[in-house]
Amino acid sequence: MEPANALRVAVVGAGPSGFYAAESLLKQRPDAVIDLFDRLPAPFGLVRYGVAPDHQKIKSVTKVYDRLLADPRLRFRGNVEVGHDLTADDLRRHYHATVFTYGAALDRRLGIPGEDLDGSMSATDFVAWYNGHPDFADLDPRLDGHTALVVGVGNVAVDVTRVLAKTPAELATSDIADQALTALAESGVRDVVVVGRRGPAEAKWSTKELRDLGELEDADLVIDPADLAISDESRAAIADDPVARRNLEVLEELAARPLRGLDRRIHLRFLLSPVAIEADASGTRVGAVVLERNRLEARADGSLGARGTGVTERLDAQLVFRSVGYRGQAMPGLPFDERWSVVPNDRGRVLTARDGEPVPGWYVAGWIKRGPTGVIGTNKACAVETVTTLLSDELPAIDPAAADPAAVDALLTERGVQAVDAEGWRRIDAAETTAGAAAGRPRVKLCTREALLTASRG
Ligand code: NAP
Repeated sequence: MEPANALRVAVVGAGPSGFYAAESLLKQRPDAVIDLFDRLPAPFGLVRYGVAPDHQKIKSVTKVYDRLLADPRLRFRGNVEVGHDLTADDLRRHYHATVFTYGAALDRRLGIPGEDLDGSMSATDFVAWYNGHPDFADLDPRLDGHTALVVGVGNVAVDVTRVLAKTPAELATSDIADQALTALAESGVRDVVVVGRRGPAEAKWSTKELRDLGELEDADLVIDPADLAISDESRAAIADDPVARRNLEVLEELAARPLRGLDRRIHLRFLLSPVAIEADASGTRVGAVVLERNRLEARADGSLGARGTGVTERLDAQLVFRSVGYRGQAMPGLPFDERWSVVPNDRGRVLTARDGEPVPGWYVAGWIKRGPTGVIGTNKACAVETVTTLLSDELPAIDPAAADPAAVDALLTERGVQAVDAEGWRRIDAAETTAGAAAGRPRVKLCTREALLTASRG
């Protein structure tokens, strides 16, 4: 039974930031009660649908989240879309405060001709598809081509490249979606060309992720050592960046390795930007990509940017994955900064606009607060900052009748929403892990909303 005057907080988005916000809140205010909403029936956001299926160690962070789901002060309500099933105003009525942690679900585009040809897609969509995200079950990426181009040199690019270059056996022990396992087993892709618009010193990947590319069973890693000769400006720019310096050393080690003549190849190339994607003879499918060579140029802030030289080359490719970052989207009723694709905020406190006034009772944490950067752990400090801000504010009062936890459930039922609670998630989890155990895999994911909802009912 919750205390009569409990602090009622809604958290919107059951990804890492949502759980870290809930954890921090319950630690700092043990009398708080939290409703944690997610638009999907299953919790964990990008840990379930973004982290690569062959990175089970990273996914094991969900043990901490599972413990929170078992806390009687926290109620999970999956399959509830805030902005649709519940409005921001509903939240204002029923909770003293709301922390929006709904992430950055959209992808960034290249803005070049041919980007919408069949075979050109967002890496983030491809990631969601191979991770069994219910909204991407029908993506059906065309994997019959021989060469795939991956644009961008961040960790998502590395994930996509590794998944494309792994053998079916290497993927079979992961929790990759069944449809992706089948499609990748039949994939014709043998060359994956990864291009960075800047140089090797400016790449965003983590050292471990980069190193993993050299450890695949059936893929050679092809790096031209000449591509690793960096300018004095680049060297100076990374003088105080141990990760970038280590990455460069690892690239040099990897480039020096003899090729093994394996069936697949990953090519890492730099200072190249796609400027056009050309159709093949069908007129609708990707056939080639025009790449422009770049040089580095100092920007106003002192960092090094890519500038096209006008020199181009043509690469025959049948697939293009743009892996150039995620992008946040507006939620109805909530302020949004179009320029930075985040909710304007001051240490997590939502503002009416950049440099605007605080919106009482509303907070943000995670990627929708600070943009799509950092690893899972980064969201912990970010959420703690937001919760500390929340607890230092005077929060709006709510009508005692609306404070009854049953009121929100009644509203959802009235609107025909079948919310999934923690027990429902446990049933989904049990169904997936039981199927996984039988197949020698961590879990066999249920990949449609219907299958998840059916399993949640037991
Ligand atoms: P990211 O780290 O920001 O990398 C984006 C890449 O796209 C950069 O190389 C960037 O180059 C490039 N890019 C941006 N716009 C471009 C354009 N118009 N043309 C060509 N290239 C362009 O983003 P991400 O890979 O999507 O990852 C998002 C976050 O999730 C990151 O913090 C990442 O570390 C994290 N993540 C972590 C893991 C892990 O820990 N295993 C796995 C996946 C994701 P510039 O540098 O030149 O802008």
